[in-house]
Amino acid sequence: MIKLALLLLISTSLFSQMTMGQSAEKNYFNKLDNCIRTSDLKNISGHFTQFSQLVRTTKSELCESDLGEDTLQIARSVLAMQRIDVEPIERDEADDFTRRAIQEKDWWVYFKQRASKFSVPKNCRPGVVAYVIGGPFSDGTIYLCRPYFEMDVPGQIEVLMHEVRHFDGHRHVTCSRGAAKGRSGACDETIVSKGSYAISVQAGVELSFNKQLTSAQRAVSEAGAIFLMVNRFNKVPKVKAQTNVLLSNSLGEIWKGETENGALTDLSLVGELDQPSRIYSNGSALTVFPLNLEGDAYRVSNDLTGRISAIGSFASKYNSESIPERAKYKSFSYSGTGLIAKGKEIISTCNPDSELNAVVFTPEKISSLITFETSPFNISTSVLGESGSIYVVDCDSSKGQITIKKLKTKMPSFITDSFTVDGIQYALTDTGILAYLDFTLSPSEPKLIPVFEKQPGVVWVSAATVSTFDIFEREKELELANVLAGL
Ligand SMILES: [Zn+2]
Repeated sequence: MIKLALLLLISTSLFSQMTMGQSAEKNYFNKLDNCIRTSDLKNISGHFTQFSQLVRTTKSELCESDLGEDTLQIARSVLAMQRIDVEPIERDEADDFTRRAIQEKDWWVYFKQRASKFSVPKNCRPGVVAYVIGGPFSDGTIYLCRPYFEMDVPGQIEVLMHEVRHFDGHRHVTCSRGAAKGRSGACDETIVSKGSYAISVQAGVELSFNKQLTSAQRAVSEAGAIFLMVNRFNKVPKVKAQTNVLLSNSLGEIWKGETENGALTDLSLVGELDQPSRIYSNGSALTVFPLNLEGDAYRVSNDLTGRISAIGSFASKYNSESIPERAKYKSFSYSGTGLIAKGKEIISTCNPDSELNAVVFTPEKISSLITFETSPFNISTSVLGESGSIYVVDCDSSKGQITIKKLKTKMPSFITDSFTVDGIQYALTDTGILAYLDFTLSPSEPKLIPVFEKQPGVVWVSAATVSTFDIFEREKELELANVLAGL
Protein backbone atom coordinates (compact mmCIF):
# COMPACT_ATOMS: atom_id res chain seq x y z
CA MET A 1 0.00 0.00 0.00
CA ILE A 2 2.79 2.36 0.93
CA LYS A 3 4.65 1.39 -2.22
CA LEU A 4 1.66 2.17 -4.38
CA ALA A 5 1.22 5.60 -2.88
CA LEU A 6 4.85 6.40 -3.48
CA LEU A 7 4.63 5.24 -7.06
CA LEU A 8 1.62 7.44 -7.62
CA LEU A 9 3.47 10.38 -6.19
CA ILE A 10 6.46 9.86 -8.46
CA SER A 11 4.33 9.44 -11.53
CA THR A 12 2.32 12.61 -10.88
CA SER A 13 5.44 14.65 -10.34
CA LEU A 14 6.92 13.22 -13.54
CA PHE A 15 3.72 14.03 -15.34
CA SER A 16 3.69 17.59 -14.12
CA GLN A 17 7.31 18.03 -15.16
CA MET A 18 6.45 16.75 -18.61
CA THR A 19 3.54 19.13 -19.06
CA MET A 20 5.68 21.96 -17.74
CA GLY A 21 8.28 21.17 -20.33
CA GLN A 22 5.85 21.00 -23.22
CA SER A 23 5.63 24.73 -23.73
CA ALA A 24 7.11 27.76 -22.06
CA GLU A 25 5.02 29.98 -19.72
CA LYS A 26 2.42 31.96 -21.60
CA ASN A 27 2.82 35.70 -21.76
CA TYR A 28 -0.64 37.02 -20.92
CA PHE A 29 0.50 40.62 -21.40
CA ASN A 30 0.72 39.92 -25.12
CA LYS A 31 -2.62 40.73 -26.70
CA LEU A 32 -1.62 39.16 -30.01
CA ASP A 33 -1.62 35.66 -28.51
CA ASN A 34 -5.24 34.59 -28.76
CA CYS A 35 -4.99 31.42 -26.67
CA ILE A 36 -4.70 30.70 -22.98
CA ARG A 37 -3.64 27.54 -21.14
CA THR A 38 -6.57 25.46 -19.92
CA SER A 39 -4.65 24.62 -16.74
CA ASP A 40 -4.12 28.34 -16.01
CA LEU A 41 -7.81 29.08 -16.41
CA LYS A 42 -8.67 26.03 -14.30
CA ASN A 43 -6.48 27.49 -11.61
CA ILE A 44 -8.69 30.56 -11.22
CA SER A 45 -12.03 28.93 -12.07
CA GLY A 46 -12.51 27.80 -8.45
CA HIS A 47 -12.81 31.47 -7.51
CA PHE A 48 -14.20 32.91 -10.75
CA THR A 49 -16.76 30.16 -11.23
CA GLN A 50 -18.03 31.54 -14.53
CA PHE A 51 -14.96 29.91 -16.14
CA SER A 52 -15.58 26.46 -14.62
CA GLN A 53 -17.68 25.11 -17.52
CA LEU A 54 -15.05 26.18 -20.03
CA VAL A 55 -12.20 24.22 -18.45
CA ARG A 56 -14.08 20.90 -18.73
CA THR A 57 -12.25 20.00 -21.90
CA THR A 58 -9.38 17.77 -23.03
CA LYS A 59 -7.80 20.67 -24.93
CA SER A 60 -4.58 21.97 -23.38
CA GLU A 61 -5.22 25.46 -24.76
CA LEU A 62 -8.39 27.48 -25.17
CA CYS A 63 -8.45 30.00 -28.01
CA GLU A 64 -10.73 32.76 -29.25
CA SER A 65 -12.84 30.22 -31.20
CA ASP A 66 -13.45 28.27 -27.97
CA LEU A 67 -14.10 31.19 -25.63
CA GLY A 68 -15.38 34.06 -27.76
CA GLU A 69 -13.51 37.37 -27.88
CA ASP A 70 -14.86 38.92 -24.68
CA THR A 71 -14.28 35.89 -22.45
CA LEU A 72 -10.80 35.39 -23.89
CA GLN A 73 -9.93 39.03 -23.15
CA ILE A 74 -11.37 38.94 -19.63
CA ALA A 75 -9.59 35.68 -18.78
CA ARG A 76 -6.32 36.90 -20.28
CA SER A 77 -6.31 40.17 -18.33
CA VAL A 78 -7.13 38.35 -15.08
CA LEU A 79 -4.35 35.81 -15.71
CA ALA A 80 -1.95 38.65 -16.47
CA MET A 81 -2.95 40.33 -13.19
CA GLN A 82 -2.28 37.04 -11.36
CA ARG A 83 1.26 37.03 -12.76
CA ILE A 84 2.17 40.62 -12.08
CA ASP A 85 5.26 41.05 -10.00
CA VAL A 86 5.33 44.58 -8.60
CA GLU A 87 8.44 46.37 -7.47
CA PRO A 88 7.29 48.94 -4.86
CA ILE A 89 8.38 52.52 -5.52
CA GLU A 90 10.46 54.31 -2.91
CA ARG A 91 8.28 56.91 -1.15
CA ASP A 92 9.18 60.58 -1.58
CA GLU A 93 6.95 62.81 0.60
CA ALA A 94 7.25 65.64 -1.93
CA ASP A 95 5.99 63.58 -4.85
CA ASP A 96 2.49 62.07 -4.97
CA PHE A 97 3.57 59.79 -7.81
CA THR A 98 5.33 57.72 -5.14
CA ARG A 99 2.18 57.39 -3.03
CA ARG A 100 0.82 53.86 -2.71
CA ALA A 101 -2.93 53.68 -2.25
CA ILE A 102 -2.80 50.00 -1.41
CA GLN A 103 0.12 48.48 0.41
CA GLU A 104 -0.40 44.89 -0.75
CA LYS A 105 2.62 43.81 -2.74
CA ASP A 106 0.47 41.21 -4.40
CA TRP A 107 -2.21 42.88 -6.51
CA TRP A 108 -3.73 39.51 -7.25
CA VAL A 109 -4.52 38.81 -3.59
CA TYR A 110 -6.08 42.27 -3.20
CA PHE A 111 -8.09 41.86 -6.39
CA LYS A 112 -9.33 38.33 -5.70
CA GLN A 113 -10.55 39.24 -2.23
CA ARG A 114 -12.94 41.75 -3.80
CA ALA A 115 -13.91 40.59 -7.30
CA SER A 116 -15.94 37.48 -8.00
CA LYS A 117 -17.59 37.85 -11.39
CA PHE A 118 -17.37 39.68 -14.73
CA SER A 119 -20.30 40.80 -16.81
CA VAL A 120 -20.49 42.48 -20.23
CA PRO A 121 -23.68 44.59 -20.29
CA LYS A 122 -25.39 45.35 -23.61
CA ASN A 123 -25.92 49.03 -22.88
CA CYS A 124 -23.13 51.08 -21.34
CA ARG A 125 -23.13 54.87 -21.12
CA PRO A 126 -20.90 56.35 -23.88
CA GLY A 127 -17.28 56.67 -22.77
CA VAL A 128 -17.65 54.32 -19.78
CA VAL A 129 -14.92 51.67 -19.64
CA ALA A 130 -16.16 49.70 -16.62
CA TYR A 131 -18.32 50.09 -13.54
CA VAL A 132 -19.51 48.37 -10.39
CA ILE A 133 -22.80 48.59 -8.51
CA GLY A 134 -23.40 48.77 -4.79
CA GLY A 135 -19.94 49.62 -3.42
CA PRO A 136 -19.26 47.63 -0.24
CA PHE A 137 -22.64 45.85 -0.52
CA SER A 138 -21.92 44.55 -4.00
CA ASP A 139 -21.74 40.89 -4.99
CA GLY A 140 -18.28 41.54 -6.49
CA THR A 141 -19.41 41.84 -10.13
CA ILE A 142 -17.33 44.04 -12.43
CA TYR A 143 -19.19 45.30 -15.50
CA LEU A 144 -16.95 45.72 -18.54
CA CYS A 145 -17.91 47.95 -21.51
CA ARG A 146 -16.59 48.08 -25.10
CA PRO A 147 -13.67 50.49 -24.45
CA TYR A 148 -12.26 47.91 -22.01
CA PHE A 149 -11.82 45.42 -24.83
CA GLU A 150 -10.03 48.00 -26.98
CA MET A 151 -7.37 48.59 -24.30
CA ASP A 152 -4.02 46.89 -24.07
CA VAL A 153 -3.59 44.36 -21.21
CA PRO A 154 -1.77 46.72 -18.78
CA GLY A 155 -4.58 49.27 -19.18
CA GLN A 156 -7.15 46.53 -18.49
CA ILE A 157 -5.31 45.57 -15.30
CA GLU A 158 -5.36 49.22 -14.16
CA VAL A 159 -9.13 49.33 -14.79
CA LEU A 160 -9.73 46.12 -12.81
CA MET A 161 -7.73 47.46 -9.85
CA HIS A 162 -9.62 50.77 -10.06
CA GLU A 163 -13.01 49.05 -10.04
CA VAL A 164 -12.41 46.75 -7.05
CA ARG A 165 -11.36 49.79 -5.03
CA HIS A 166 -15.02 50.90 -5.23
CA PHE A 167 -15.91 47.74 -3.27
CA ASP A 168 -13.99 49.29 -0.37
CA GLY A 169 -16.53 52.14 -0.38
CA HIS A 170 -14.64 54.77 -2.40
CA ARG A 171 -16.84 56.90 -4.67
CA HIS A 172 -16.17 59.63 -7.25
CA VAL A 173 -17.16 63.32 -7.23
CA THR A 174 -17.75 66.00 -9.90
CA CYS A 175 -14.53 67.38 -11.43
CA SER A 176 -13.90 71.01 -10.46
CA ARG A 177 -10.79 71.23 -12.70
CA GLY A 178 -8.85 69.31 -15.35
CA ALA A 179 -9.86 67.74 -18.65
CA ALA A 180 -13.23 66.55 -17.32
CA LYS A 181 -14.13 69.78 -15.47
CA GLY A 182 -17.87 69.78 -14.72
CA ARG A 183 -18.37 66.08 -15.36
CA SER A 184 -20.03 64.25 -12.49
CA GLY A 185 -18.41 61.11 -11.08
CA ALA A 186 -15.21 61.56 -13.06
CA CYS A 187 -12.79 62.75 -10.33
CA ASP A 188 -11.68 62.06 -6.78
CA GLU A 189 -11.44 64.95 -4.32
CA THR A 190 -7.81 64.23 -3.46
CA ILE A 191 -5.16 61.59 -4.07
CA VAL A 192 -4.52 61.44 -0.31
CA SER A 193 -7.84 59.66 0.32
CA LYS A 194 -6.53 56.63 -1.62
CA GLY A 195 -9.64 56.18 -3.75
CA SER A 196 -10.03 54.49 -7.11
CA TYR A 197 -8.04 57.08 -9.08
CA ALA A 198 -5.21 56.91 -6.55
CA ILE A 199 -5.10 53.16 -7.29
CA SER A 200 -5.18 53.89 -11.02
CA VAL A 201 -2.18 56.22 -10.66
CA GLN A 202 -0.34 53.68 -8.52
CA ALA A 203 -1.06 50.92 -11.04
CA GLY A 204 0.10 53.11 -13.94
CA VAL A 205 3.32 54.07 -12.17
CA GLU A 206 4.18 50.55 -11.02
CA LEU A 207 3.31 49.07 -14.44
CA SER A 208 5.51 51.68 -16.12
CA PHE A 209 8.48 50.22 -14.20
CA ASN A 210 7.49 46.59 -14.73
CA LYS A 211 9.93 44.58 -16.80
CA GLN A 212 7.24 42.01 -17.67
CA LEU A 213 5.84 44.59 -20.12
CA THR A 214 7.32 45.76 -23.43
CA SER A 215 8.94 49.19 -23.43
CA ALA A 216 6.03 50.54 -25.50
CA GLN A 217 3.51 49.17 -22.96
CA ARG A 218 5.53 50.74 -20.17
CA ALA A 219 5.56 54.11 -21.95
CA VAL A 220 1.77 53.94 -22.35
CA SER A 221 1.34 53.08 -18.64
CA GLU A 222 3.47 56.10 -17.76
CA ALA A 223 1.33 58.32 -20.01
CA GLY A 224 -1.82 57.01 -18.35
CA ALA A 225 -0.51 57.66 -14.85
CA ILE A 226 0.45 61.23 -15.77
CA PHE A 227 -2.91 61.94 -17.42
CA LEU A 228 -4.82 60.74 -14.36
CA MET A 229 -2.56 62.64 -11.96
CA VAL A 230 -3.04 65.91 -13.88
CA ASN A 231 -6.77 65.56 -14.54
CA ARG A 232 -8.55 63.38 -12.00
CA PHE A 233 -8.02 65.09 -8.62
CA ASN A 234 -9.83 68.28 -7.59
CA LYS A 235 -7.14 69.14 -5.07
CA VAL A 236 -3.96 69.63 -7.11
CA PRO A 237 -1.49 66.84 -6.22
CA LYS A 238 2.15 67.52 -5.31
CA VAL A 239 4.54 66.33 -8.00
CA LYS A 240 8.15 66.95 -8.91
CA ALA A 241 8.22 68.16 -12.50
CA GLN A 242 10.24 70.17 -15.01
CA THR A 243 8.80 72.21 -17.86
CA ASN A 244 10.51 71.84 -21.22
CA VAL A 245 9.78 73.23 -24.66
CA LEU A 246 8.94 70.85 -27.47
CA LEU A 247 9.38 71.94 -31.07
CA SER A 248 8.70 70.27 -34.40
CA ASN A 249 10.19 71.48 -37.69
CA SER A 250 9.58 71.30 -41.42
CA LEU A 251 11.85 68.24 -41.69
CA GLY A 252 9.63 66.26 -39.28
CA GLU A 253 12.23 66.46 -36.52
CA ILE A 254 11.30 66.92 -32.89
CA TRP A 255 13.55 69.01 -30.67
CA LYS A 256 13.38 69.43 -26.93
CA GLY A 257 14.50 72.61 -25.20
CA GLU A 258 15.64 72.49 -21.59
CA THR A 259 14.73 75.53 -19.53
CA GLU A 260 16.17 77.20 -16.47
CA ASN A 261 14.12 79.92 -14.76
CA GLY A 262 12.06 80.03 -17.91
CA ALA A 263 14.99 80.65 -20.27
CA LEU A 264 15.85 78.12 -22.96
CA THR A 265 19.31 76.77 -22.20
CA ASP A 266 19.80 73.82 -24.48
CA LEU A 267 18.13 72.32 -27.51
CA SER A 268 18.52 68.70 -28.57
CA LEU A 269 17.07 66.45 -31.25
CA VAL A 270 14.85 63.86 -29.55
CA GLY A 271 13.06 62.17 -32.41
CA GLU A 272 11.88 62.14 -35.96
CA LEU A 273 8.41 61.72 -37.41
CA ASP A 274 7.74 60.24 -40.84
CA GLN A 275 6.45 63.61 -42.05
CA PRO A 276 6.37 67.24 -40.86
CA SER A 277 3.58 67.63 -38.30
CA ARG A 278 2.20 69.84 -35.61
CA ILE A 279 2.50 68.24 -32.18
CA TYR A 280 0.53 68.95 -29.05
CA SER A 281 1.17 67.75 -25.52
CA ASN A 282 -1.63 66.98 -23.06
CA GLY A 283 1.01 66.51 -20.35
CA SER A 284 1.03 62.74 -20.64
CA ALA A 285 1.24 62.08 -24.37
CA LEU A 286 1.77 63.81 -27.71
CA THR A 287 -0.91 64.10 -30.35
CA VAL A 288 0.52 64.44 -33.86
CA PHE A 289 -1.30 66.18 -36.73
CA PRO A 290 0.57 65.80 -40.05
CA LEU A 291 0.77 69.04 -42.08
CA ASN A 292 -0.32 67.01 -45.09
CA LEU A 293 -4.08 66.97 -44.55
CA GLU A 294 -4.37 63.45 -45.96
CA GLY A 295 -2.42 62.08 -42.99
CA ASP A 296 -4.48 61.00 -39.99
CA ALA A 297 -3.71 62.32 -36.51
CA TYR A 298 -2.27 59.86 -33.99
CA ARG A 299 -0.95 59.76 -30.43
CA VAL A 300 2.43 58.69 -29.05
CA SER A 301 4.01 58.55 -25.59
CA ASN A 302 6.16 61.51 -24.52
CA ASP A 303 9.37 59.66 -25.43
CA LEU A 304 7.88 58.81 -28.86
CA THR A 305 8.30 55.04 -28.34
CA GLY A 306 4.74 53.91 -27.65
CA ARG A 307 1.75 54.38 -29.96
CA ILE A 308 -1.35 55.03 -27.88
CA SER A 309 -4.55 53.56 -29.28
CA ALA A 310 -6.87 55.99 -27.46
CA ILE A 311 -6.17 59.10 -29.58
CA GLY A 312 -8.65 61.37 -27.81
CA SER A 313 -11.83 63.06 -29.01
CA PHE A 314 -10.04 65.93 -30.83
CA ALA A 315 -7.94 63.68 -33.05
CA SER A 316 -10.91 61.33 -33.59
CA LYS A 317 -13.06 64.24 -34.77
CA TYR A 318 -10.28 65.48 -37.06
CA ASN A 319 -9.74 62.02 -38.56
CA SER A 320 -13.45 61.64 -39.29
CA GLU A 321 -13.49 64.80 -41.46
CA SER A 322 -12.98 65.35 -45.20
CA ILE A 323 -9.85 67.13 -46.49
CA PRO A 324 -11.67 70.49 -47.06
CA GLU A 325 -13.02 70.30 -43.48
CA ARG A 326 -9.58 69.41 -42.08
CA ALA A 327 -8.20 72.52 -43.80
CA LYS A 328 -10.40 74.70 -41.55
CA TYR A 329 -8.63 73.62 -38.34
CA LYS A 330 -6.44 76.44 -37.02
CA SER A 331 -5.19 75.02 -33.75
CA PHE A 332 -5.80 72.66 -30.87
CA SER A 333 -5.21 73.19 -27.17
CA TYR A 334 -4.91 70.24 -24.84
CA SER A 335 -4.61 72.39 -21.71
CA GLY A 336 -7.33 72.26 -19.07
CA THR A 337 -10.69 71.38 -20.59
CA GLY A 338 -9.16 71.63 -24.06
CA LEU A 339 -10.21 73.64 -27.09
CA ILE A 340 -10.21 73.47 -30.90
CA ALA A 341 -10.27 76.50 -33.20
CA LYS A 342 -11.89 75.56 -36.49
CA GLY A 343 -13.00 78.23 -38.96
CA LYS A 344 -15.26 80.62 -37.05
CA GLU A 345 -15.95 78.09 -34.30
CA ILE A 346 -14.44 77.05 -31.02
CA ILE A 347 -15.06 73.45 -30.06
CA SER A 348 -14.82 72.17 -26.48
CA THR A 349 -16.11 69.46 -24.17
CA CYS A 350 -17.78 72.13 -22.04
CA ASN A 351 -21.32 70.78 -21.67
CA PRO A 352 -23.02 68.40 -19.24
CA ASP A 353 -22.66 65.26 -21.36
CA SER A 354 -19.01 66.09 -22.24
CA GLU A 355 -19.49 65.43 -25.93
CA LEU A 356 -17.69 67.83 -28.27
CA ASN A 357 -19.63 71.04 -28.53
CA ALA A 358 -19.09 73.74 -31.20
CA VAL A 359 -20.03 77.42 -30.73
CA VAL A 360 -19.42 80.34 -33.09
CA PHE A 361 -16.79 82.70 -31.67
CA THR A 362 -18.59 86.03 -32.01
CA PRO A 363 -16.09 88.74 -30.90
CA GLU A 364 -13.92 88.56 -34.04
CA LYS A 365 -12.05 86.33 -36.52
CA ILE A 366 -9.86 83.72 -34.82
CA SER A 367 -6.14 83.76 -35.50
CA SER A 368 -4.94 80.95 -33.20
CA LEU A 369 -5.14 79.45 -29.71
CA ILE A 370 -2.53 80.40 -27.12
CA THR A 371 -1.97 79.56 -23.46
CA PHE A 372 -0.87 81.50 -20.40
CA GLU A 373 0.79 80.35 -17.21
CA THR A 374 2.03 76.89 -17.31
CA SER A 375 2.11 74.65 -14.40
CA PRO A 376 0.94 71.21 -15.39
CA PHE A 377 -2.12 71.94 -13.25
CA ASN A 378 -3.13 75.47 -14.15
CA ILE A 379 -3.14 76.56 -17.75
CA SER A 380 -5.74 78.77 -19.35
CA THR A 381 -6.42 78.61 -23.04
CA SER A 382 -7.14 81.79 -24.96
CA VAL A 383 -8.23 82.77 -28.42
CA LEU A 384 -5.90 85.18 -30.21
CA GLY A 385 -8.06 87.29 -32.51
CA GLU A 386 -6.99 88.77 -35.84
CA SER A 387 -6.92 92.22 -34.18
CA GLY A 388 -4.31 90.93 -31.70
CA SER A 389 -6.82 90.89 -28.84
CA ILE A 390 -6.70 87.97 -26.42
CA TYR A 391 -9.81 86.24 -25.03
CA VAL A 392 -9.50 83.78 -22.14
CA VAL A 393 -11.89 80.88 -22.70
CA ASP A 394 -13.13 78.94 -19.68
CA CYS A 395 -15.85 76.46 -18.92
CA ASP A 396 -18.57 77.34 -16.41
CA SER A 397 -19.11 73.77 -15.32
CA SER A 398 -22.30 74.51 -13.37
CA LYS A 399 -24.01 75.72 -16.56
CA GLY A 400 -22.00 73.65 -19.01
CA GLN A 401 -21.26 76.79 -21.01
CA ILE A 402 -18.18 78.55 -22.37
CA THR A 403 -17.25 81.91 -20.85
CA ILE A 404 -15.08 84.46 -22.69
CA LYS A 405 -13.07 87.25 -21.04
CA LYS A 406 -11.12 89.82 -23.09
CA LEU A 407 -7.69 90.79 -21.74
CA LYS A 408 -5.96 94.18 -21.90
CA THR A 409 -2.79 92.54 -23.18
CA LYS A 410 -2.38 92.16 -26.94
CA MET A 411 -0.15 90.06 -29.13
CA PRO A 412 0.75 90.16 -32.82
CA SER A 413 -1.88 88.14 -34.71
CA PHE A 414 0.80 86.34 -36.76
CA ILE A 415 1.59 84.22 -33.69
CA THR A 416 0.52 80.60 -34.14
CA ASP A 417 1.59 79.15 -30.76
CA SER A 418 2.30 80.84 -27.45
CA PHE A 419 2.87 79.55 -23.93
CA THR A 420 4.51 80.49 -20.61
CA VAL A 421 7.50 78.88 -18.92
CA ASP A 422 8.27 80.19 -15.42
CA GLY A 423 6.87 83.63 -16.22
CA ILE A 424 8.48 83.93 -19.65
CA GLN A 425 6.05 84.02 -22.57
CA TYR A 426 7.15 82.27 -25.76
CA ALA A 427 5.71 82.63 -29.23
CA LEU A 428 6.04 80.94 -32.58
CA THR A 429 5.37 83.11 -35.63
CA ASP A 430 3.66 82.02 -38.84
CA THR A 431 7.06 82.25 -40.54
CA GLY A 432 8.47 79.61 -38.19
CA ILE A 433 10.49 81.79 -35.81
CA LEU A 434 10.57 81.00 -32.08
CA ALA A 435 10.80 84.11 -29.88
CA TYR A 436 10.45 85.44 -26.33
CA LEU A 437 7.82 88.13 -25.90
CA ASP A 438 9.08 91.19 -24.05
CA PHE A 439 6.13 93.10 -22.57
CA THR A 440 8.27 95.53 -20.53
CA LEU A 441 8.00 98.45 -22.97
CA SER A 442 4.31 98.00 -23.81
CA PRO A 443 1.73 95.47 -22.64
CA SER A 444 -0.17 95.85 -25.88
CA GLU A 445 2.81 95.70 -28.24
CA PRO A 446 5.34 93.14 -27.00
CA LYS A 447 8.77 92.98 -28.62
CA LEU A 448 9.72 89.66 -30.22
CA ILE A 449 13.21 88.46 -29.33
CA PRO A 450 14.11 85.43 -31.48
CA VAL A 451 15.71 82.42 -29.76
CA PHE A 452 17.57 79.52 -31.35
CA GLU A 453 17.55 81.07 -34.81
CA LYS A 454 16.40 78.64 -37.44
CA GLN A 455 18.71 76.65 -39.68
CA PRO A 456 18.64 77.84 -43.30
CA GLY A 457 15.62 76.40 -45.10
CA VAL A 458 14.17 74.82 -41.98
CA VAL A 459 11.30 76.37 -40.05
CA TRP A 460 9.57 75.46 -36.81
CA VAL A 461 6.01 74.30 -37.40
CA SER A 462 4.84 73.90 -33.81
CA ALA A 463 5.96 74.78 -30.31
CA ALA A 464 4.51 73.73 -26.97
CA THR A 465 5.49 72.99 -23.41
CA VAL A 466 5.91 69.47 -22.18
CA SER A 467 6.35 68.42 -18.58
CA THR A 468 8.90 65.87 -17.47
CA PHE A 469 8.10 64.23 -14.19
CA ASP A 470 11.04 63.39 -11.94
CA ILE A 471 9.84 59.93 -10.97
CA PHE A 472 9.94 58.63 -14.54
CA GLU A 473 13.22 60.40 -15.36
CA ARG A 474 14.88 58.98 -12.23
CA GLU A 475 14.03 55.43 -13.31
CA LYS A 476 15.34 55.99 -16.86
CA GLU A 477 18.64 57.32 -15.51
CA LEU A 478 18.92 54.31 -13.22
CA GLU A 479 18.31 51.93 -16.12
CA LEU A 480 20.88 53.70 -18.25
CA ALA A 481 23.41 53.49 -15.41
CA ASN A 482 22.74 49.75 -15.10
CA VAL A 483 23.23 49.25 -18.83
CA LEU A 484 26.50 51.19 -18.71
CA ALA A 485 27.65 49.14 -15.71
CA GLY A 486 26.98 46.01 -17.75
CA LEU A 487 24.22 44.73 -15.48
ZN1 LIG B 1 -14.40 54.56 -10.78
